[in-house]
Amino acid sequence: MTETLPALVQRATELSRDWRLSSVRAWKQRTGALAIGYLPVYVPREVFHAQGVLPVGLTGAGDDLEIIKGDAFYQSYICHLPRSTIELGLNGSLDCLDGIVFPATCDVIRNLSGVWRMQFPSKMSRYLDVPQDFDRAMGGVFYRHELEDIAREIHERGGRKLEAEALRASIRVYNENRTLVRELLTLRREAPWKLPTAELYVVLRAGLVLPVEEHSAMLRRYRDLAQADAERRPRDQARVVLTGSFCEQPPLGLIKTLERAGCYIVDDDFVPVLHWLRGDVCTEGDPLANLVTAFLEDSIDSPVRYCGDGTKGQELVQRVDESKAEGVLFCAPSFCDPALLDQPMAQAALDGRAIPWTSFKYSENTGQFHVIREQAGTFADSIKLWSEA
Ligand code: SF4
Repeated sequence: MTETLPALVQRATELSRDWRLSSVRAWKQRTGALAIGYLPVYVPREVFHAQGVLPVGLTGAGDDLEIIKGDAFYQSYICHLPRSTIELGLNGSLDCLDGIVFPATCDVIRNLSGVWRMQFPSKMSRYLDVPQDFDRAMGGVFYRHELEDIAREIHERGGRKLEAEALRASIRVYNENRTLVRELLTLRREAPWKLPTAELYVVLRAGLVLPVEEHSAMLRRYRDLAQADAERRPRDQARVVLTGSFCEQPPLGLIKTLERAGCYIVDDDFVPVLHWLRGDVCTEGDPLANLVTAFLEDSIDSPVRYCGDGTKGQELVQRVDESKAEGVLFCAPSFCDPALLDQPMAQAALDGRAIPWTSFKYSENTGQFHVIREQAGTFADSIKLWSEA
């Protein structure tokens, strides 16, 4: 039977909350291959895929898990994601993973990689250092060496040797996935009532655990079903860009609350690994060099990426313009240094263009949204009043 829109969204929601990784366990039973986890915000999944490995995006346990042991590893003034990651490791939820890659996002992730290595010494535990120098001869050489080293370690643990032709084929598969993601993000900008963010979010997030080919099929089906749904009509909501949620993800209830409070989220930072590269990676020539070049020269702007003096916030302003947004929600995890240190510069850039903004924080297990609902609702109302003045 052909899957309906509610059934597809339900399946995606279950996958997005599948922190016990039951779908990954089933995949491993079917294939007998390796599955390797990765923390936000970006890893080159093409390398894993070309080695026959399932890359599995880890984003904690949301509001579904009580943290008991994980809290003992971190100070109270640290974000929530590393606590729930440790909790999931200690309660066996991540046992099916053959290793975890920790990309250089912030000090918290760096420390988490060390804690992980001590707690699970038999598993692959790899810190992926990424360059903050974007010169091909400097950062490019460094990054290529990192990728080759990870590929070698995966091969030693049972993955296939990284071969150029296989990597080229994997790049093609991920290019297709990125094209679909971009298409959906564009459709949402054009008609956010057709693709509500709370729905699009779970459909995108399912891509963290599904094999990329299955995820692309889900994206295609969702695109067609959402566009064909004639019941979905525009409402008088304020168009906003949401920024700051690139690593620890907000609970789904928070996204729904913002939409119910009168906001159309027309651009956001959620699940950045899916759209970290702006365009296609070249499939001609040396595929590893192409992945490196794409990272150096075609990554999105992010608080975890070096950006020259005086340019912070410019891309946010550009996103506001391109999405025809009327305001910005700064929505960052509590104690997220990269997001919160960038925020004043981004706010100054918005102020320079008289773009309204408001700011609040969350953690992945935030359970009460009443205050945020009032704040976002007031913000949306005031935007509608200003824009009609
Ligand atoms: S939420 Fe922020 S501080 Fe916490 S691990 Fe992610 S980037 Fe680092």
